[in-house]
Amino acid sequence: MARMFVPGPVDVAPEVMQAMTKPMLPHRSKEYEDIHRSAAEKAQKVFYTNYRVFIGTHSGSGMQETGIRNLVNKDVLCCVNGAFSERWYDVAVSNGKNTDRLDVEWGKAVRPDQLRDALKKKHYEAVTIVHNETSTGVESPVKDLSKVVREVSPETFILVDAVSSLGGTKIEMDAWDLDFLLTSSQKCLALPPGLSLAGVNDRALAKAATVENRGWYFDLLIMEKHRVKNSTAMTPVVPLVYALDFQLDRIFDEGLENRFARHAAMSQKVYNWSLAHGMPSFAEEAYRSKTVATISNTMNLDVSVLNKFLMEHYQMRISSGYGDMKEKTFRIATMGEISLTDVDMLLEGMDKFIALNK
Ligand SMILES: *Cc1c(COP(=O)(O)O)cnc(C)c1O
Repeated sequence: MARMFVPGPVDVAPEVMQAMTKPMLPHRSKEYEDIHRSAAEKAQKVFYTNYRVFIGTHSGSGMQETGIRNLVNKDVLCCVNGAFSERWYDVAVSNGKNTDRLDVEWGKAVRPDQLRDALKKKHYEAVTIVHNETSTGVESPVKDLSKVVREVSPETFILVDAVSSLGGTKIEMDAWDLDFLLTSSQKCLALPPGLSLAGVNDRALAKAATVENRGWYFDLLIMEKHRVKNSTAMTPVVPLVYALDFQLDRIFDEGLENRFARHAAMSQKVYNWSLAHGMPSFAEEAYRSKTVATISNTMNLDVSVLNKFLMEHYQMRISSGYGDMKEKTFRIATMGEISLTDVDMLLEGMDKFIALNK
C-alpha cells in the first residue's frame, strides 16, 4: 500500500473509505442525527473536553475564521511563528479586526515570557496560537502559554489551532483551559479532507452572543442551535460524518495513549535518522513537532528526484519545505495510519537514494 509522509491529506484506511459508501440519509432524520451525535460525543474524548465539539463540514481554515468572527469584537493578538499562524493573522485582518501580531522567528516556539510581555502592554479579547506549526515543525507549549494568559489577562479568550497535531498528540482542552480548539480531518485523524472540528466552551459561546456581525455560515449561535438537535444548519458532508464516527472507534481501538506514543516514536525515529546524517531539525530541539519533522536540508537532497525514486521503489513520498523554505528544508510527516515499520522502510529508501547519489 502506498504511504504518503506528507502533512495532509494523509492516507485513509480502506475500511474508513468503505464507511463513506453507505446510502445517504436526510440530515433531519433520526438515523442521521444518531450518527452525528455519536461522532460528536466520541470527538469530545479526543479533545479531552466535557464541552461541545462542533462538526464543521468545511476545512480547518473555516474554523480559524469561526473563532475570529465569534470571539473578537475588536482587539486580537495573533502569535505568528510560521505560515499557518500567519494565515490566522490574515483571517483576523480580513475580518476587519484590530489585529496585533506577536512575531516569533520561524523555527522557534512561542514562549510564555514573550506572550506575557505582549499581554501586559495591551488588553486583548482573544489570542490565537497554532499548537503545531506545520510549516516549520515546531510545537509551541500551549499548556504553559494558556497559564500565562490566565495569570496576566484572565478574561482573554484562548484560541488554538491544532490542525496538524490533534489526534496524534495529547491536547487537553479542559485541563489546559482552552476556550476554542480546532482541528481538520485530513491530518492526524486520518480522514479524507473536508471536515473540521472545534471544541468550544460555555464561556466562548456566551461571548459570541455579544459579538456583532458574526456572519451566518460560521455563527456559533446558529451552529449551537442545530448542534443540540444533533445536526447542522446547512447540509453536512454526510459521508464524511459516517467516516468520522467509524474512524473514532478505530482510534479508540488503538487507544489514545498508544496512538500518541506511536506518533512520538515515529517522529523520534526520523529525527535520529536525520541527525545521523548530519541534518538537524529546522525546529529548535526542545520544541520539535511529534507529527511532522522539518529537517534542514544540509545534504542538499533534491526532494522531487528523491520522491520519484521513493514512489517508484517504495510507493512512498515525503514533502518539500513550505513556501520559501522549499529547498532549505524537507518535511517528513508521520501521521495517522503510518506505522513504525513504514518509517523504517522510508528511511531505508532514503538511505538507498543517498548511497546511489554519492
Ligand atoms: C493544514 C493546516 C491548516 C489548514 O487547514 P485546512 O483544513 O487545509 O483548512 C491550518 N493550520 C495548520 C496548523 C495546518 O497544518
